Amino acid sequence: MSAITRDMNPITSPIWFPYSLMKQKSPILHCTSAKGVHITLENNQTLIDAMSSWWSTIHGYNHPILNQAANEQLNKVSHIMLGGFYTTASQKLADTLIQLTPKGLDKVFFSDSGSVGCEVAIKMALQYWYNLNKKNKTRLLTLEGGYHGDTIGCMALCDPNDGMHRAFGSQQRSKHLFLTPPKGGLNPKDSDLQKALSQAEHVIKSQHHSIAALMLEPIFQGASSMSFYSPVYLEKLCALAKHYNILVIFDEVATGFGRLGTRFAFDQCRITPDILVLGKGLSGGYLGLAATLASHAIFEAFLPEDKDPFMHGPTFCGNPLACNIAQASINLFESQHYLKKITKISKHLQEAFRNFKHPLVRSCRTHGAIAIIEVKEPETLKDAQAYALKQGIWLRPFSKFLYTTPAYIIKEQELQQITHTMKRYFKTLNTH
Ligand SMILES: *Cc1c(COP(=O)(O)O)cnc(C)c1O
Repeated sequence: MSAITRDMNPITSPIWFPYSLMKQKSPILHCTSAKGVHITLENNQTLIDAMSSWWSTIHGYNHPILNQAANEQLNKVSHIMLGGFYTTASQKLADTLIQLTPKGLDKVFFSDSGSVGCEVAIKMALQYWYNLNKKNKTRLLTLEGGYHGDTIGCMALCDPNDGMHRAFGSQQRSKHLFLTPPKGGLNPKDSDLQKALSQAEHVIKSQHHSIAALMLEPIFQGASSMSFYSPVYLEKLCALAKHYNILVIFDEVATGFGRLGTRFAFDQCRITPDILVLGKGLSGGYLGLAATLASHAIFEAFLPEDKDPFMHGPTFCGNPLACNIAQASINLFESQHYLKKITKISKHLQEAFRNFKHPLVRSCRTHGAIAIIEVKEPETLKDAQAYALKQGIWLRPFSKFLYTTPAYIIKEQELQQITHTMKRYFKTLNTH
């Protein structure tokens, strides 16, 4: 790693870096530019990006078409408040999102990050019931192993057993209810599926009067547990919720725009949520942007004159620069047959990890454009990032997970370098 110069020491840097232990060993690299899947460092060394900057840069970096969309909008207006104004960019993107998603979702609320998009979803659901005079419906139902963002409201729905937000105690989350998804990943045994569903039914039947919404990441749980669960479970759980008058909120901040091999994760089941949250890849990873889509029924509950309006309005909501780039990103996704590209990536990842076994590895799973190696002890991954850097690959493992979520424009040969590096790391380890 000596080839990489001027790495930032997180203790002396003026920047407070995210999710970093200040005493950690891994360097903070100096990126000077990036193009496609290549990140260039100060000394002109390049790295192949295996992470898509936390699932966001789905077209890679510095894409000419997205750059053009940014430049065109810069020359018109880069920002104007959405309180009282709209732009063609914000209006077109709202239309596009409504068209792309199933019938029933017909209002778009814009914000500037996935966490805020999720907060907006939660507030909409709570006030919906308040406005309908169902004032007891104030709790949320969710799944263990979930992640919805780092703000206080979202944090309360993150996995209760994961220590991520330990410092904040259990006070916030104790209000909410957590279900255990069936074990067995995408294809659980029937008995495990039934067990999980009967737990869900028991909780819902006995508590539905106090539950405003079921909020979850459909099929794939990202930043907390990096795990897949059965679409059959999802479908039946949502049907139960709807039957008992509980709203359904899907957080597709990570899975939206192709990550699971379909445009949205919920395309793999037959449920339309009442509220849907999109973020990350929405702007192609160019700017912070999230969209919370809601059904007409939800919107209608805010219409009577004696009700409070929806009290939320981030300063940068509907930012025209972000919206215009997002529109270009979606056009690219649709016109360049991205789902086919993703199928190819998916097959490659499946092949690469199908027979991968190692004594320190608990399991290895792939679906869509995601591949995860889960180890038994986090300690096992302590040198994985440094090893990958030496091979010219940017990986950022966390907890027990070494994973890749590549940009969809990645070439076969580059993908191979990533998967080889992930597997080869384990050959460097002493298993005794
Ligand atoms: C990343 C993520 C969020 C939070 O998005 P930010 O833009 O980081 O605030 C919320 N939900 C899911 C599923 C995510 O993956």
